[in-house]
Amino acid sequence: MSENNASTESAALAPDLPVDGDFPPVRISVGELVAFACRRGDLVGDRAGGPSAQEGIRAHQRLQKKRPSGSEAEYPLQVEWRCDGQAVVLSGRVDILHPQTDLHRPVLLEEIKTTYVPPERLPDSARALHWAQLKVYGFCYLLQQRDERQKTAPDDRHIALQMLWYNLKEKKTYPELREFSWHELEAFTRAALREYLDWHRRWQQHRDQVRATARSQAFPFPEYRDGQRQLAVAAYRCMRDGGELLVEAPTGIGKTVSTLFPAIKALGEAEVDQLVYLTAKNSGRQVVRQTAARLHDNGLALSVLEIQARDKTCACSLGLCSRDEDNVCPRTRGFFDRLPEARRQLLGQPLLTPEVVADVADHLQLCPFELSLQMLPWADLVVCDFNYVFDPLVRLNVLQDQRQRRALLVDEAHNLGDRARGMFSAPLSRADSRRAAAACKGQQPTLRRAIQSLVRALDKWVSEQRDAGGQARAGDNPDIELWVTRLSETETRPAAVTRAAEKVATVVSQLWEQSQAPPEAIGDWLKALYRYLCIEPLAAEQHRCLTRVQHRDAPWQEQQLKLLCLHAGGYLQQVYQQFHALIAFSATLRPPNYVRHQLGLQPQSPYLQLPSPFQPQQLGTFLCPYVDTRYRARDRATDTLVDIIARVYQSRPGNYLVFFPSYRFMQQVAERFAERFPQLDLVQQQSGSSETERAAFLQCFTAGRRSLGFAIMGGVFGEGVDYVGEQLVGTIVVGVGLPQINEEQELLRETYDALDGSQSGAGFDFAYRYPGMTRVLQTAGRVIRTELDRGVVILVDRRFAEPFYRDLYPEHWRVQACGDGEALSSGLGRFWAETADVDPAGHTSPIAAQ
Ligand code: SF4
Repeated sequence: MSENNASTESAALAPDLPVDGDFPPVRISVGELVAFACRRGDLVGDRAGGPSAQEGIRAHQRLQKKRPSGSEAEYPLQVEWRCDGQAVVLSGRVDILHPQTDLHRPVLLEEIKTTYVPPERLPDSARALHWAQLKVYGFCYLLQQRDERQKTAPDDRHIALQMLWYNLKEKKTYPELREFSWHELEAFTRAALREYLDWHRRWQQHRDQVRATARSQAFPFPEYRDGQRQLAVAAYRCMRDGGELLVEAPTGIGKTVSTLFPAIKALGEAEVDQLVYLTAKNSGRQVVRQTAARLHDNGLALSVLEIQARDKTCACSLGLCSRDEDNVCPRTRGFFDRLPEARRQLLGQPLLTPEVVADVADHLQLCPFELSLQMLPWADLVVCDFNYVFDPLVRLNVLQDQRQRRALLVDEAHNLGDRARGMFSAPLSRADSRRAAAACKGQQPTLRRAIQSLVRALDKWVSEQRDAGGQARAGDNPDIELWVTRLSETETRPAAVTRAAEKVATVVSQLWEQSQAPPEAIGDWLKALYRYLCIEPLAAEQHRCLTRVQHRDAPWQEQQLKLLCLHAGGYLQQVYQQFHALIAFSATLRPPNYVRHQLGLQPQSPYLQLPSPFQPQQLGTFLCPYVDTRYRARDRATDTLVDIIARVYQSRPGNYLVFFPSYRFMQQVAERFAERFPQLDLVQQQSGSSETERAAFLQCFTAGRRSLGFAIMGGVFGEGVDYVGEQLVGTIVVGVGLPQINEEQELLRETYDALDGSQSGAGFDFAYRYPGMTRVLQTAGRVIRTELDRGVVILVDRRFAEPFYRDLYPEHWRVQACGDGEALSSGLGRFWAETADVDPAGHTSPIAAQ
């Protein structure tokens, strides 16, 4: 169809959309166009199905090498065309071009697709998508030829297109040859482009509105708090100029609004195209939602998309659907047929919360999680967990496409180093593998055999370790054998285990490709296997392979092979490179050299430390250095601790939390406390508690209650929870928060000890003392959350008095050291008297009543 028809075609578009050359040329690759506009059918097999990228590349190279002389591999195509009055630049590379050798044969373009099955067993939608890509290449080629030869219109020309499906299993090629006229290809491409351009115009219209409303936004509070303006200015500069910024912003500054507001301004000025806000905890997401809602009330058109974990979003898990007779979720059937309508309904909505996305997904019977992922490129602000950006197994590649200038805001950044080490570590368990093989019995014999081979490979690996006699660490427990090997050396890599794991993954892919799902019961085990396969090729100097055998004589002997990441900074830095700007912030990021190292930031990246916006008098900080809470001294410390807790509670009854280094110690103190003060109910954190149990625990800490809670330092109640006002009037921090000593932690210490330069020998600090103090500061930071709060923090451990720890105290702490219980009681009495704070209910302490 020629350009002359453009105006008639434009009439099909929505009347409110501009049509005639209002926009600069739209640039899109053939792959993107086809994926957006030509994809139809099921979602099944999208993630796990089909050969891996490496297998595909190898097969492509092999087939391209075999091409006849005169033909060209990876032939580049780039054309500019007008569709409905809009200039479009389409580009791509077709796998093989065979030029015209005689007048009776047209040019032939070939596209290679690798599979595990003969093409007739591929889903129709997959075959149609492959053909769609080749047809658009055919269109581009004919148009390119016309442009090069400056002919008017190649109306009568034809082209031959051949799809080469290469079955990796059979090592056999299945060609399918078809011939198309220019008219057919032009009509096909035009239809695809129309769908895309219609969407693009709607998107552009939304984007213009976002930018205009962002530019006119005023700061959403009457005035800046202390430190807030400084943070906002630094954040805007970072967005504008690019690079990294590290910010320690104490509680109360309003980190979220102080970083988000300048980021939105930068979006308005087109300094960035998309914002990605990462939170480690649910509570962080709520704050972003509230901040965005406030800005929306002021007229901002920003579209905010929250990504929630698949298992929390899944319609099947929520009982809204169940798998069909083929064990396939019905929400995946026809997913891409109904996706365009869902996208249209969601585009431009201000808050794309999981609930809003789920509403549309339920209405159109789509998978809500996959729908939220499909909306990723079309949101201005994406809010999600760290793993969607950093975890190599689940990260969303669309967020790292460098054609967009994205800014990354990392909240609660003190968690990132540890979380990232977990993402780049991968355990494989023999017992779980045996259970997975058992779950496949009867239904999936091929998969079962593949898993059994993996179990044998694990056994062989353990025997090799035993034969080599290199058991590096047996620990104190004679039931445990442990070997540690370096992954930087080829001969110490578990290559046979990896090959066996690859075989399992291949069998699963083959099942998916034939629209068959593996048993649901092995889902978690498969995730662990994929993580292993994802991490193994990345593992090098910063990894160790830990092989642990437990209960070697038991029938279900446990063997675990773990690829342990000791430092993920290098991987994190690679991810940062994909973003235009990075701001990492938290209330506890000290000292800067430790944090930069953990987070993989540049040594010279700017570090901003802001003062607390609260008055120092709001917080009473008391140090009890007369207690030794180290492991061996805990029995002796128990009675003293009970005494301290009672004194603190008695000084001003209200809600208090006591944070312990371990469940065992917590239980020991709780029992003694209950013996001495049976009239007072204690609430205790339970190991592995459910969300309902956690909510019940927090329910005890509402204003007007007088709850005494025992919890674990660094756990769910010590971070990311806002206890405002009377919800918490004090915390008692027992011990300096050191992580538990174990093999993995000791390997960390050794690694940090071996660092170069000024950090050499800092192993104990990096592996234990700094992370411990981060937990302490997070825990202590729960007490004062607003200008009206008053409260106390009691540090119980003699190590807190050492210069190392004193140097890490926040600047606004006025620490009073107490020599004994009496001194503590009088200090507390003075503090509460000076703050003129009395128990609002006027109750007598149950302890005092005793
Ligand atoms: S609804 Fe659940 S089971 Fe169905 S595709 Fe989505 S995540 Fe999978």
